[in-house]
Amino acid sequence: MLPEELEKDFETLGEQKFRAAQVFQWLSRGVRDFDGMTNLSKPLRERLKAEYDLYMPKVLNKQISATDGTIKYLWELRDGNAVETVVMSYKHGNTVCVSSQVGCRQGCAFCASTIGGLVRNLEPSEILDEVMYSQIDSGKPISNIVLMGIGEPLDNFDNVMRFLQLVNHPKGMNIGMRHISLSTCGIIERFDDLAQRDLQLTLSVSLHAPDDETRSKIMPANRGRGVDALIAACRKYYEKTGRRISFEYAMIDGVNDTERHARLLAKHARSVAAHVNLIPLNHVDERPFQPSTPEHLRAFIKVLESEGVNVTVRRKLGGDVDASCGQLRRKMQSRQ
Ligand code: SAH
Repeated sequence: MLPEELEKDFETLGEQKFRAAQVFQWLSRGVRDFDGMTNLSKPLRERLKAEYDLYMPKVLNKQISATDGTIKYLWELRDGNAVETVVMSYKHGNTVCVSSQVGCRQGCAFCASTIGGLVRNLEPSEILDEVMYSQIDSGKPISNIVLMGIGEPLDNFDNVMRFLQLVNHPKGMNIGMRHISLSTCGIIERFDDLAQRDLQLTLSVSLHAPDDETRSKIMPANRGRGVDALIAACRKYYEKTGRRISFEYAMIDGVNDTERHARLLAKHARSVAAHVNLIPLNHVDERPFQPSTPEHLRAFIKVLESEGVNVTVRRKLGGDVDASCGQLRRKMQSRQ
C-alpha cells in the first residue's frame, strides 16, 4: 500500500494519520514485524497485528559470482513459488534486475523463463520486496532497477505500475524513474497506456530480429503483431514521451546475426532514434541456440556503426552463477 492509502485505512481505524507514514517507512526499511516498529505504541502494534499481515520472501538460494561479485537470489514467495533477482555492481552504482511474473507466457525460443509457461503474476509488493530484500541482504545500496528478470512486465501492467509508484515514493525507496528500465518483448497494445503515464523510465524493446520471418520464429509475440507495427508503436511512444527507446538484440549464431539483419536493424533504429544494445546470447541448456562468434559480433557492430547507429555491447556479468533470466529457477525445479 502507498502511504496515502494507509492513511485512509488508519483514519477508518480511528488512528492518527501520521502513524501511516511511520509504518510505511518501517516497511520500506524491510521491517516485517510490528514489534520492530518501535515508535508505535504497544496497543497500536497489537491492533496492527490483528488487522494486517506481513510477509517477507525467504532466500531459497544465493549465488555470488567469483569473478565479478554479481549476486543471484532465488526467493521463495508465500505460496511456495520462486522467482529470481540479480544484483550487479557497476562503477555508477548497483543495479537490481527484478522478475515481474512467476514464469512467462511469451514463449521466446531462446529464453529459460518461459519453459514452464506462466504460473502467475507477481503482486506489486512482491516485486518491491525483490528490490528491498536484495538491498538488505547484499548490503549494496540499490540505485538502478531493470525489469528484465522473469516475466513480461507489460503482461502484468497494473501491478508493475503500482510497483513503480511504490519504489519511486519519496517516503519509500525513492528510486528515480530515470534510474529504471522496463523491458518488453513488444506488447504494443500497452505502449499508449505506458506513454500516457509520462514516466521518465527507459523503455527497452527486446527486438532480437529486424524482420518478421526471423522474429516470428524466435519470438511468438511477434506473430499477429509484426515488426512494422512494433516500430510504429515505438515511434509513437518516442514522439509522445521524448524518451529514447533502447533495442535489445541478443546475438544468436546463424539466426539473426548476418549483414542483412544488421542493415535492417540499423534502418529501424535510425527511424526511431533508438539505441541498440547487443547481448551475446546466454546459452540455455534446454535450448538449441548458441551465441554468435566474436567475428560475427564485430562485423555486426561495424555495420551498425557505419550506418550511424548508437550501439553498445552488454558486458557479461554473473556468467558463473546462471545469471541470465530463469535459469536458476529452472534448475531448482528440475531437481525437485
Ligand atoms: N519479457 C521482457 C523482460 C524479461 S527478459 C522482455 O522480453 O524484454 C530480459 C531480456 O533478456 C530480454 O531482452 C530477453 O529477450 C533477454 N533474454 C532472454 N533469454 C536470453 C538469453 N538466453 N540470452 C540473452 N538474452 C536473453
